[in-house]
Amino acid sequence: MDRPLRPGRRPLVAGNWKMHGLRKELVEVEKICAEAAAGGADGAEIVLCLPATLLGAAAPICAGAGVGLGGQHCHNEPSGPFTGDISAEMLKDAGASYVILGHSERRTGHHEGDESVRDKANGAFRAGLRAIVCVGETRAEREAGDALPVVASQLAGSIPITSTPESLVIAYEPVWAIGTGLTPTLSDIAGMHRFIRERIDAHLPGMGHGMRILYGGSVKPGNAAELMGVSNVDGALVGGASLSARDFMGIAGVYRHFCDAGPA
Ligand code: PEP
Repeated sequence: MDRPLRPGRRPLVAGNWKMHGLRKELVEVEKICAEAAAGGADGAEIVLCLPATLLGAAAPICAGAGVGLGGQHCHNEPSGPFTGDISAEMLKDAGASYVILGHSERRTGHHEGDESVRDKANGAFRAGLRAIVCVGETRAEREAGDALPVVASQLAGSIPITSTPESLVIAYEPVWAIGTGLTPTLSDIAGMHRFIRERIDAHLPGMGHGMRILYGGSVKPGNAAELMGVSNVDGALVGGASLSARDFMGIAGVYRHFCDAGPA
């Protein structure tokens, strides 16, 4: 296991609240911001991808603490007759600087394919948002030995050719690890993250080294240090544990401990 503060790639710990969170839960955002402002994740960038309904209220809380906000999906068009949808421009206007795209719950539940994810990522770039594009295999695909080709195909189809390390983050989220308490072995994660970096470089020449690749899937305070310590893991996309300030900052806090331990 090597040290997680890698030159040129600032670690990112992003929370995905999914369809959870009423205004009263903003108290957790306040706690996260207070801890972040006090250096609770020194060295790492923190982003909360909240339900769109909470972004406006969360924006003034997060602004002073250096905590970023994100949406969880967007339409590819800036505006129009798309009832129930939200555009990247609207997310930006509400205070977001990131948007998660291609999460497996949207790929499955809303039939979003790679081309649609790519169009939405282009919409995000147009609005000045950074896209966190999720990829990952199902259990059946892993068991069939197809994890690498599945992820390679998702990357090739979902990533706009104009992407840069500033505009795009990749999240490797094995579908079978999301919300299940299961995680791949550290060596499987290392192998997949190395493979993803190589594929990015093949697809976007010269961009592989700088692109941040997050791991997501049952990251908890108890396993964060070992997962974040894996080579080519530049942070985490956190679902369930991001709803609790204590758990989320317990995860982001691994970077403070890594910093405390001295230069890598
Ligand atoms: C997610 O939804 O992106 C996720 C990783 O969820 P969890 O951390 O709950 O597995």
